Amino acid sequence: MKKSRISYICKGLGIAVLIGCLSFAAHAHDDYDPANYNDVFEPPETVHRSAHVNPPLFENSSEKLDFLLTATPAYLWLAYEFSKTFEGLEPTYFLGGLVGGYLMADLASGIGHIITDSLDPEIFPESLADVFRGAQDHHKEPLDVYDTSLWANNKKYHVGAYLALGAATLLHLYGYDVPAEILCGVTALNMWTGLTHLIGHGGYKDYRVVRGLQALGLLITQKEHHGHHGGNFDRNFCVISGLMNPLLNTAYDATRATRGYAARIFRGFRECLGFGA
Ligand SMILES: [Zn+2]
Ligand SMILES: [Zn+2]
Repeated sequence: MKKSRISYICKGLGIAVLIGCLSFAAHAHDDYDPANYNDVFEPPETVHRSAHVNPPLFENSSEKLDFLLTATPAYLWLAYEFSKTFEGLEPTYFLGGLVGGYLMADLASGIGHIITDSLDPEIFPESLADVFRGAQDHHKEPLDVYDTSLWANNKKYHVGAYLALGAATLLHLYGYDVPAEILCGVTALNMWTGLTHLIGHGGYKDYRVVRGLQALGLLITQKEHHGHHGGNFDRNFCVISGLMNPLLNTAYDATRATRGYAARIFRGFRECLGFGA
């Protein structure tokens, strides 16, 4: 009993130290000048909402109900999985899992972004095709992220979270507590990728906590995300903290030839099987 209380205190202190260390280790984004990014972030004529007006969490009461029904079981499940690792792991491993989850979440957001930017939407069933279309149309109208409520923007990630939560439960079942915790961190943060992406477009910048986390390097900035929109859409795919962008950019460049070859194989199969034509 006494030992477990000490373990709880250690974990609590560890989390505080961890946040502090991450803050110092992360590069500060204090040289951001909005004037440099206006060309990409100015609203096109067709955008319904005026630029930089924060979208509401819900557009109407049916969205609220939808949120309760869709998200509540996922959060309860997530809390249960987190509590299992909190109870079962030594402080060092628990904290390692949190850091790993935080970093891997950013990487996962980048890998997901590469996939949605690259594949032809028409080869998917209609409901999934919309996700790919949305990602690719966003390149043409960057401020379309202001068009929908936060929930409408993040619902698809909540639905996808159930697959990841199933995998986390399996990992726990086979005793892989640290990987399960990392996966839970990845899941929890990626459920709100639509929000962090919006923040990368200047959303919620009137909130002190957003500006603070950005200054600490822990949350995506407009400057970081502009690296994606301001170039050829082949950089800075990560949209949670952006900390993993240097790694993913390098991997993306290194696999350019392989990706080209994989695309040819994919096209070949598509021709042979006649799907998506
Ligand atoms: Zn993109
Ligand atoms: Zn964007």
